[in-house]
Amino acid sequence: MQIESDCVLRFIEVVAARIKDQRDYLTELDAAIGDADHGVNLDRGFSAVLSKLPALTGRDIGSILRTVGTTLVSTVGGASGPLYGTAFIRAGAVTADRFQLNPHELMVALEAALEGVLARGKATRGEKTMVDAIAPFVETMKASLAVEEDPLVALRKAVAACEEGMRATVPMLATKGRASYLGERSIGHQDPGATSAYLMARALLEVSEGQATGR
Ligand code: ADP
Ligand code: MG
Repeated sequence: MQIESDCVLRFIEVVAARIKDQRDYLTELDAAIGDADHGVNLDRGFSAVLSKLPALTGRDIGSILRTVGTTLVSTVGGASGPLYGTAFIRAGAVTADRFQLNPHELMVALEAALEGVLARGKATRGEKTMVDAIAPFVETMKASLAVEEDPLVALRKAVAACEEGMRATVPMLATKGRASYLGERSIGHQDPGATSAYLMARALLEVSEGQATGR
């Protein structure tokens, strides 16, 4: 599995499309434990990103990811804008001048993205945030690649762990972000940010599978 620049552009397009499809669902999740803007925020950001993609054709992966990140920071707002923005900017920093990534280089970019979210938001696992979906995704992918599993198998396992992490946010008590203001009333609802993170993980799998089968 080699991730080329055009595959990264395709990944961003698929993320934008899935966020648009699920905008109302993400916003409903945020209505339950936040301020009902998560889907709207991300859709605004990824629409702005889409308008910049044509100018990024043929550019290195680092430039593409950095542009996505800075665009998200300036257009998404809320907590998730700086968090996802930092994730893409950090992933862009470790892929500067690269036009192709092997699975281990992809792993380095994913770890950088997670570290960006952790550095920016200071959340740990179990606080009912996007970290609860992103961390198991990255850790499972890393563990699977370390035992030399096929990268697509590793990615499928990582997405399954991400989904499990997203679902595990339902019974959690929120202790970070806006949902923490609700205290006990945050229990029983799925975290919107963990849900959007899962959509992104699934988009990466979708694009990687499509590329592997030449679609
Ligand atoms: P806001 O809460 O400012 O309205 P959004 O609705 O766009 O922003 O995003 C909310 C999501 O951001 C939450 O569901 C949660 O996953 C994530 N989040 C909030 N605070 C943090 C944090 N400190 N670290 C990681 N993720 C966080
Ligand atoms: Mg919100």
